[in-house]
Parts: sequence; structure tokens; C-alpha cells
Amino acid sequence: MSSNRPLKIVWIYPDLLSTYGDQGNTIVLERRAALRGIPTETVNVRSDQPVPADGDIFLLGGGEDRPQILAAHRLRRDGGLAQAVGRGAVVFAVCAGYQLLGHEFGGEEGQPVQGLGLLDLRSGRGERRAVGEIVGDVSSELNVPRITGFENHQGVTQLGQNVKPFAKVLSGVGNGTGGFEGAYNGHVLGTYMHGPALVRNPGLADLLLRWAVGQELQPIDDSWAGRLREERLNAVLPA
Ligand code: GLN
Repeated sequence: MSSNRPLKIVWIYPDLLSTYGDQGNTIVLERRAALRGIPTETVNVRSDQPVPADGDIFLLGGGEDRPQILAAHRLRRDGGLAQAVGRGAVVFAVCAGYQLLGHEFGGEEGQPVQGLGLLDLRSGRGERRAVGEIVGDVSSELNVPRITGFENHQGVTQLGQNVKPFAKVLSGVGNGTGGFEGAYNGHVLGTYMHGPALVRNPGLADLLLRWAVGQELQPIDDSWAGRLREERLNAVLPA
């Protein structure tokens, strides 16, 4: 992030990758940045517009199979996201967005579709759709508390050598391989957690902000978010 301009948050393809309410993640980032006095600017980039390579945090959401294929095609052709990743920008991608960052994913008939190759992973179609609550323990180097989320996907994701699992699944399905959920490499992170993933996991929102500003953040009052987290954790894994 350059010091004399607001943190630029880029929501990629509201017309194709906004089926599951993941756009709310932008609001959480804006709010948590504002509480620390960090100004932000959010840009919505439709699939017929160029992706600004000067963004600081890029967000991609979930989508249905055909819009996901179209999004992958347009992002590959555009090249802006790959350029941004090349200079260390932060990417947070959910479900369809996560799958299309890999080398390939399964289309609506299970056919392999080429992804962006920004994460070393491949997705195919699983036997059964994974729908429901998910809980996991995050890779210790990320310093993020236990995650709680909601997943809804057919895809199964196999991680390659150059990517690390985001979390170990305690309940739910996640990647559907290796007992893991999500993946990351550098500042690019993908997850199957939909909808209010950053509302339910403020620690994850702060990880993205920390990566973007390159420094630790002041603590803020998280009692409301904490209550929601506790309620969801207890619903899935009663103490
Ligand atoms: N089409 C993908 C799948 O079913 C992604 C779905 C989603 O984003 N929820 O795995």
C-alpha cells in the first residue's frame, strides 16, 4: 500500500461472482480499517471492465458453475489480477473464486476448465455437494483464531507442493482432501467459507489488513463479533 492514498479494496466481478453474499466481506474490511484510522476506497469491477493492477486487496466470491467458467476466462485474458499478485497484493477468494485461482477446476459437466494458476491446486467435482457449517484450526503461522463458516460446494480441491493448507477441518468438509480447508501462498488466500466469512472471523479480516498495510493493527473492541463466533462455534462443537 502506498502511504499517501487510501487502501484500495477491489471487488472482482459483482456480475458473476456474487451469488452467495460474499460481497459483505468488503464492508467488514472497510469498517475494521476505519476503526484503525486507515482510509479505504472500494472499487467494484464488473467482468467487462479491466482489473486495476494497483489494488491492495482483491476479493473474489462464490458463483455458479457457468459464471465461474466465464469469470476464469475473463480474468485470464485480463491479466490484471496476476500482475497485482506479482507485486504482492492481497487476494481473498471464496469457493468458486478460490477454485479458479488454481490450475484447473471442474465445469458444470465435470470437464476440466483452466484456472489462473495463482495457487498451486486443482479442483474437480466431488460425489456429493458439501453444504453446512465448517469449523477449523488455522495454520499456526497465520495467527488467526479457530475459524467458523458456512460452505456450499460440489468441488473437491487437491493442494500442490507450493501452497499451504489454510486450516485443519474439525467439522465440515472444506477441500474434501487431506482433512484441510482452504489454501494460501504469500498473500493469496482461498477458502470455502461463504457469506459473512469475515464477519464471523474478524481475526481473518485483520490478517488481510495486516498483510495489506505491512504492520500490526491496533486492537479494537470485538465483543459483538466474539459473541457471534462463540454462538456458531458452540452450535457445531458444543463445549
Ligand atoms: N461451482 C463451484 C462448486 O460447486 C463453486 C460453488 C460456489 O461458489 N459455491 O464447487
